[in-house]
Amino acid sequence: MRWVILSDVHGNLQALESVLERLKKEDPVDGYAFLGDALGYGADPNPCMEILREVCGPWVLGNHDHGVLGLTDLSYFNLEAREAIQWCASNLDFSHRIFLESQPLVAKRDGFQLVHASPRCPEEWDYLFTYRDAQEAFEAMEGEICFVGHSHIPLVLQQDPEGNILALRQEEVELLPDHRYVINPGSIGQPRDGDCRASFGIYDAERRIFRTLRVTYDVSEAARRILKVGLPSSLAHRLFWGS
Ligand code: ZN
Repeated sequence: MRWVILSDVHGNLQALESVLERLKKEDPVDGYAFLGDALGYGADPNPCMEILREVCGPWVLGNHDHGVLGLTDLSYFNLEAREAIQWCASNLDFSHRIFLESQPLVAKRDGFQLVHASPRCPEEWDYLFTYRDAQEAFEAMEGEICFVGHSHIPLVLQQDPEGNILALRQEEVELLPDHRYVINPGSIGQPRDGDCRASFGIYDAERRIFRTLRVTYDVSEAARRILKVGLPSSLAHRLFWGS
């Protein structure tokens, strides 16, 4: 099986469409898994939801999706994120809200686990920034591979049979026998690693390869849309910086 792994679209239609266009040049895949945060920050939550619902399954909720549904307290978010969540909650179609309400925080498929933030207490939305965070994630995860989003930074964490963890940043990673992996494909709609291109991954379960791909998209149009609907201008500007 070959899986496309998508995360953190955040209502950025221009980025999502460019990713799907790019995938037409790849060998056929068997499925699309989505790691959450369809909503928040961007100006086009409804068109993004329509596309994601058509192509993706399994699907897990992100903290911004959870915030829009009123399930995570908005005091958790910074001012701009909160404003975008409130705007999204008033503009999201009911059908998408009902769909999201039925989605889980953790899912399993084809030998891998999916969770937005960390497999340790997924509803606490922890970031995996330190060695200790990574250790806790490996302790809590089930199975050999767990895909995560949330940080918007592409990263492969590899744990050897003795429990030592390495952070790998190369584009293509061969998954070794007897090792375990926590893998972040990066963000489609708001990359934060200084590279403004949309980021996503392809996991080939037979060849045991995970690949991170980057795609340029019309950042100016995504930023223009954010300003047009009246969301905070910082949300438009940060797209150009990949921050
Ligand atoms: Zn996010």
